[in-house]
Amino acid sequence: MPPALAAVVSTAARIAKPREELLFAGVTDERTQCERCGRIELKRTVVLRRVIDGSPEGYVYFGVDCAAEALGRTRKGVLEEAQRAELQRRIDARRAEFEAHPAIVAVRREEERLEALGRAPSKRHREWAAQARARAMADLGITDPTEKR
Ligand SMILES: [Zn+2]
Repeated sequence: MPPALAAVVSTAARIAKPREELLFAGVTDERTQCERCGRIELKRTVVLRRVIDGSPEGYVYFGVDCAAEALGRTRKGVLEEAQRAELQRRIDARRAEFEAHPAIVAVRREEERLEALGRAPSKRHREWAAQARARAMADLGITDPTEKR
């Protein structure tokens, strides 16, 4: 095949083939089988978002080694990202608990009410809000809503 034609053929093949991308999405212990190699009883699997030709196509679950290979990264790199994701998940969960606490809900309602009235929170309001936050944190056993546990 002449080189020019070969180039056209290879470009056409590349365009025709759906482009599949796998992106790190997190880690879970709810799935323990690697969908790539079939290994079972894994401690955890890496959740990968499948993107085909730019559109999301659900998720796949790979063991750490297979995920590292699929992502073109090291096992260590994947595990570090997994750790960061897990930490973020816990922080988000704590923050959600905090935001759902009745004392915090009350503070938010009051602040929305004041804002709707165009009023700045008074000193008394701010003290009350600070106490409510302290109470919610004490109830939830946290010293800071962003605390890493
Ligand atoms: Zn595997």
